[in-house]
Amino acid sequence: MGKTKIAIILLVTTILSFSGCSFEEDQYDGINVFTGEETIVSGYIPGRDTPFSSIYEKSDTTMLISRDGDMTHVTGDFLLRKDGGRIEAVGEDGVLVSDLVSIYAGDQLPGIGILHQETLEYLKEGVPVLAILLDGFTHEQYKMLSSEDRFDYFENLYMGKAISVFTPVTNAGFASIITGELPPVNGVHDRSYRDLQVETIFGYAVENSLDSMLLEGDIKILNTEVEPVLNVDLNKNGDTDDEIFKASLESIDQGFDLVFIHFHGIDDRGHQFGPYHKNTLEYVEVVEDYLIELDKVWEGAIIATADHGMIETDDGGDHGSCQYEDMIVPYFLREPK
Ligand SMILES: [Zn+2]
Repeated sequence: MGKTKIAIILLVTTILSFSGCSFEEDQYDGINVFTGEETIVSGYIPGRDTPFSSIYEKSDTTMLISRDGDMTHVTGDFLLRKDGGRIEAVGEDGVLVSDLVSIYAGDQLPGIGILHQETLEYLKEGVPVLAILLDGFTHEQYKMLSSEDRFDYFENLYMGKAISVFTPVTNAGFASIITGELPPVNGVHDRSYRDLQVETIFGYAVENSLDSMLLEGDIKILNTEVEPVLNVDLNKNGDTDDEIFKASLESIDQGFDLVFIHFHGIDDRGHQFGPYHKNTLEYVEVVEDYLIELDKVWEGAIIATADHGMIETDDGGDHGSCQYEDMIVPYFLREPK
């Protein structure tokens, strides 16, 4: 790098660091408004007391999503206002949410924690559960493949949409799926958290003398009550999913009450190529084939969902923002045989 280039970079950096304080708007990320079908607005910064109805004319209820991951149902209109670097939602009786990141304005949906709820209900009835986390599988991908008639199996299990948590990243989504709670309760807000503040489905299994197993890729993500069984990419094909699939088939006749599988390959390809790239969509079909095989041999219930979605970027895909593409995922259930 030439000296001139370095000098220009230093100059630009200096200007940016001095000017940063003078732009008040920089304090605000703005908020997003989304439904179960699309993102309506992203990065919106309200003026003084802006009625929500002036941004989006919604019908019934909305859900306010705050920076700490809490979700508050609201009926009727409310005001949005800037306050000291945060955006507030204010109702008739005062502040509803003091640090708003997003507003979900679609039909009422279950959270991804529905997997926890359904799993416990089956286990309490003595029905074994195969729970499957399809990392980064967006509802938009599901819709696209379904409309192209490319599924042989997923549609039989499809129950509808579910909403992820803020922040929509693996640690937080996974934590909500296995605890049934939102981040402010389970304590896992983003990738920097590993410890859970409430019991997971694995803790429930341990307490009730049920045999459970968590089949993970090559890295442990959360500190669960049952240690995950890690799977390395033995055949060096770039995925651990095939090894996880093999391990799950081997475990099926060992009498487990709960087998939890975490498939990573859809998310990996979503990041690398983008969520709607041929390679990513074709891989969803590979995972579907794994599920078809598991369906043949698993007698209990099968429940599957995703931890978060994925949005297309200039160089592939990403997730972590509170909008339709990142937050809305499909949810699947197969009744016990
Ligand atoms: Zn993930």
